[in-house]
Amino acid sequence: MSLSSKLFAAAKQVIPGGVNSPVRAFRNVGGEPFFVRRAKGAVIEDVDGRLLIDYVGTWGPAILGHAPDVLVNVVHETAKLGLSFGIPNPWEVEMARTIVDWVPSVQKVRMCNSGTEATMSCLRLARGFTGRDRIVKFHGCYHGHVDSLLVSAGSGALTHGRPDSAGVPAALAALTTVLPYNDPEAIEAFFAASGHEVAAVIVEAIPANAGLFLPKPGYLELIRSLTTTHGALLIFDEVMTGFRVARGGYQEICGITPDLTAMGKVIGGGLPVGAFGGRADIMDLLAPDGPVYQAGTLSGNPLAMAVGLTQLRELEKAHGWQRLEETGARFEAGIRDICNEIGRPLTFNRIGSMFCLYFNEAPVWNLDDAKKGDADAFRRFFHKALELGVYFAPSPYEAGFISLAHGPLQIDDSLDICRTAIRHALG
Ligand SMILES: *Cc1c(COP(=O)(O)O)cnc(C)c1O
Repeated sequence: MSLSSKLFAAAKQVIPGGVNSPVRAFRNVGGEPFFVRRAKGAVIEDVDGRLLIDYVGTWGPAILGHAPDVLVNVVHETAKLGLSFGIPNPWEVEMARTIVDWVPSVQKVRMCNSGTEATMSCLRLARGFTGRDRIVKFHGCYHGHVDSLLVSAGSGALTHGRPDSAGVPAALAALTTVLPYNDPEAIEAFFAASGHEVAAVIVEAIPANAGLFLPKPGYLELIRSLTTTHGALLIFDEVMTGFRVARGGYQEICGITPDLTAMGKVIGGGLPVGAFGGRADIMDLLAPDGPVYQAGTLSGNPLAMAVGLTQLRELEKAHGWQRLEETGARFEAGIRDICNEIGRPLTFNRIGSMFCLYFNEAPVWNLDDAKKGDADAFRRFFHKALELGVYFAPSPYEAGFISLAHGPLQIDDSLDICRTAIRHALG
């Protein structure tokens, strides 16, 4: 029996499902998760000594690769000064200044401890600012495990949402409307009927929690203009895209100015972090200046701030975003070659270092399209790639991540393994 199997059996006795976050349990691909001993650069080593080229990157934060020396050193140096103060520290100011400098729409920012906290606080702030209760989200966008956002569509586009998790009160879910993504008519009709009741529309700047699909031209612009016209706020969830697709997130690329932005993942460099920011007149409603309460014992933690700041500076110094685009393009070209060779043009969506290979030959623009993929083929692909030494996310509904530690040789090795795994999957 492998050490991973033993650990999983032990974990199941004392941790629900044996995991601390559901996707880690491998339920979407079958089999058992492996346990990690260490990770460095583009490679993770499991407790049984198996080496894997990693395209999960701890779900996004590891953009320089795992445990780069520069971040590990900052952890050591900062830890000598203290682990947490619960009193303001200089790193928080530097982090806030960096975010305000880099992210076009952010005039003020507050740090928290996870992406979930960031989106949750954005909703409360939007409700406090507008004096309205209704929230709009999109089918297939994930914003963390916030009660108001664990909601699925009702029976018609104009109806109220229903809880997508046990424990979410129906009365709360009824305040959230879930619209189909990339469907201009649906949101126009909704706003025509109910726009005046909406506190905020929250949208992943690029939806990357149902695989990865891009906004159609003009779609985000439409959301921006409808929210402005109806006095609702626009919240960009850039927890995944922020500092990854560009220095200033996807808003820098698309040129749209949201009112509030949720951030996380890359800004923590692998330590637990979230942040939310936006227009100063909205952010100033937060306690202690304003009536919207928000707080955190560990918010602005010195280790997380120091590591996150160092990661951001390294990215900038290394021309990170340009290099990640080059590596992403090399990977994409390789996958397309393989598909052509096999005569099966699978759908491959990519922006910079984020990608998704769908086992589906039709374009994917939303969750309904994504669901048309061949789940069995993905399962076979996933397990074959893992057996041969490449780890992709254990679900057909997750994006892949490339880091600066993924060199051309690792990309080419990965592509050789993908060729075998895709052939195996399509059998
Ligand atoms: C990961 C993620 C979250 C939640 O962040 P956590 O740190 O896991 O709470 C929210 N929104 C998006 C877009 C994410 O990818």
